[in-house]
Amino acid sequence: MSAAPKAPLIGHQHLLSIRDLSPGDVTSLLDLADTYVDLNRQQDKKLSTLKGRTVINLFFEPSTRTQASFELAAKRLGADTVNMAVTTSSVTKGETLLDTVATLNAMNPDLLVVRHHASGAQRMLVSTANCSIINAGDGTNEHPTQALLDALTMRHKFGDLSGLTVAICGDILHGRVAKSNLYLLAMMGARVRLVAPPTLLPPDATRWGAEIFHDFEAGIKGADVVMMLRLQNERMEGTLLPSTREYFRYYGLTPERLALAKPGAVVMHPGPINRGVEIDSRVADDPKTSLILTQVEMGVAMRMAILDALSQHRRNDVGARA
Ligand code: ASP
Repeated sequence: MSAAPKAPLIGHQHLLSIRDLSPGDVTSLLDLADTYVDLNRQQDKKLSTLKGRTVINLFFEPSTRTQASFELAAKRLGADTVNMAVTTSSVTKGETLLDTVATLNAMNPDLLVVRHHASGAQRMLVSTANCSIINAGDGTNEHPTQALLDALTMRHKFGDLSGLTVAICGDILHGRVAKSNLYLLAMMGARVRLVAPPTLLPPDATRWGAEIFHDFEAGIKGADVVMMLRLQNERMEGTLLPSTREYFRYYGLTPERLALAKPGAVVMHPGPINRGVEIDSRVADDPKTSLILTQVEMGVAMRMAILDALSQHRRNDVGARA
């Protein structure tokens, strides 16, 4: 293992948006996460870095990867963790988000990992809680920890993010992964293309600084990374697409289409994947090109780095006040 990386996220109490980070923050988080990738591949994965700390996962939307990886990350660092089951909590009795967070905050957690369907929800919680808040997805706005784990995955594969061409394809309008990735990749010197039908692109996407493509094949041509996104049916209002069969016909990633990307190109997807809707199983399951499960592996390491980094802030903060 290389020398200990420089402490990341100095001065940050929370992780709410990629836009709050500098390129230096991102690089030092990636360096710290690298050390956890090595650790997670060993038989003994347990550290005591967060011994005595409490991490609460509070997810108001379904999750498999994000919630499980935050729980594993916290446990591997030695923290005590609680997964709030929102569907059986007092939220069902009408308790508001702010009251729920004030209640949990009174139990003195150190880190609160929150996923919520309202864009901007976590930023609103900052004044209610004095622990660190981590945004695990807020509505259609951002999913910063996903972009960071995606960056870790790409850096592992290509060594550097700068100069890569990344085509982000699919439901950009309702997806939060696209925005966080766009902010991070642009900041780190990658070229980003957004590839989607006009009905699945926000009207202001032209001002985001990425190249826009409505033609799927033109959009992925020559790309180093083809990042596929799920149709976020749970957020769609009205009919934006004729049918999923038609969508797959024009915007589905097949091996034939992937051949248009740069030789050696890789496929990514934040999951959950919908086979036969945005991605063909032959692409999703091809270990030579698909990094989908590598993303899951990198997710645990990146979330360990984030919990560690924000706790270091807290250690310094509490130390300064003592
Ligand atoms: N898991 C990602 C998210 O929570 C992507 C998705 O759901 O499609 O945004």
